[in-house]
Amino acid sequence: MALETKQQSGKKFNIKIALFVIIAILFVVATAFFSTSYIEFAPYNEHEVIEYPQNVLSSQPQGHLKNELFAFIDIPLKTTADTKINFSELGLNTVKYTADFLFIKNTASQTIEIVDTTKPIIQFAEDSLTGGQISYIAYDNYDGDITDQVETEIKNGIEFFTITDSSGNTAVEAKVVDISQVPKPIITVNSTNVVRLKLNEEYTPPTFSAADALGEDLTAEVVVEGSVDTSANGRYTIKYTVTDQFGKTTTVKRLVIVGNDTLDTSHIDKNTKVIYLTFDDGPGPYTEILLDVLKKNDVQATFFVVNSKYNHLLQRISEEGHAIGAHTFSHVYSDIYSSKEKYYQDLNNIQSVIKEYTGSETKLIRFPGGSSNTVSKKYCPKIMTELSQELTEQGYAYFDWNVDSGDASFSKTAEDVYNNTISAISKKKQAVVLQHDTKLFSIQAVDDIIKWGKQNGYVFLPLTEESPVVHHSIYN
Ligand SMILES: [Zn+2]
Repeated sequence: MALETKQQSGKKFNIKIALFVIIAILFVVATAFFSTSYIEFAPYNEHEVIEYPQNVLSSQPQGHLKNELFAFIDIPLKTTADTKINFSELGLNTVKYTADFLFIKNTASQTIEIVDTTKPIIQFAEDSLTGGQISYIAYDNYDGDITDQVETEIKNGIEFFTITDSSGNTAVEAKVVDISQVPKPIITVNSTNVVRLKLNEEYTPPTFSAADALGEDLTAEVVVEGSVDTSANGRYTIKYTVTDQFGKTTTVKRLVIVGNDTLDTSHIDKNTKVIYLTFDDGPGPYTEILLDVLKKNDVQATFFVVNSKYNHLLQRISEEGHAIGAHTFSHVYSDIYSSKEKYYQDLNNIQSVIKEYTGSETKLIRFPGGSSNTVSKKYCPKIMTELSQELTEQGYAYFDWNVDSGDASFSKTAEDVYNNTISAISKKKQAVVLQHDTKLFSIQAVDDIIKWGKQNGYVFLPLTEESPVVHHSIYN
């Protein structure tokens, strides 16, 4: 009996020890496990941008239980957010996420930005033009009906409707209200008016684009006519034509000269005797007479143009291979020289006119009064110094003159113009002559000036950006 009891108590003792050992091991294992466990958030975007009215996040923090010793442990944990995302309002939401496992805990934060980058929509009624009044509604994905905020403006026979939503997204629609006033489409050809090639030099057709007055791209509608044979000396005209939805047609031409034409500038060096005839203040009533004289003599000149009712002549000037430079839109000194901003505004205006009729803007400039003018001093000191520097930096070439025909001052007749001009030219190798095609008597001297020039070994050229620089001293 006693032995049996002893045996029993020995068994109990053994079980106790075993239990103790097991518990101790478990405790050690648990301690080891918890001290090496941690919570990690799966990769997510810390900043989410959501376009209103969407309400789905592309990622959200999700906690996982991990362990340093046992890499295979990866248990997704319940993760709670401290606040609800407000998808119905634009703005920034900051949300803190918490995941825990017993006494292990970790947090993550995410910002969610609700934005509106969608433009409002302007919708016109089907028969909007029949009643004379155009009816429409404007609707925005966030602001709702904003018809009463539409701003309208009529320009060149086109009514523009502009609407901006509360997030700054702007939509513009246009409706034609008077077709007769709508400007013709504009073709932009990315080359100079005259392209000169040596015999057998490769001709790369210039790129071009076209748009109607509503800004609609018409490039694909442009018809290109003409071809260039670079193996034969000659003049080739390439014609670009486009007709818009209103039946308005624009044509732009480019002249390609191949071979040893008298205008081939590749042989011009500082010893070549060159006359650059330049005409300011046109086009005007006598410009066509001048163009006929130049054509008859096969001479190209340079026209520094202003805005006038003869603007349409810019097309002929350009097509006949003359250079066009920007003189001024208004020619009002007190306006254009009152500030640099005013000058640039005026320059932009005349560039638009030039582009409308020739398909491209110009890099040639002649300042009203020349760069040496002192009249600008009373409107804006130092403006000539600054403009001449800035424009050169912007890639423009401005030209003054070194021969004054005097047609705006000391010459009163064609004979005066002729005598004063040739006597000044004869002292120069390269002469930039100032005349005005707004003066008939001045135009009447051109034929004789050309004859004299040719007899005396001069060639006549239009100015280009590469032409010799003729600049006056600047006094303001
Ligand atoms: Zn002028």
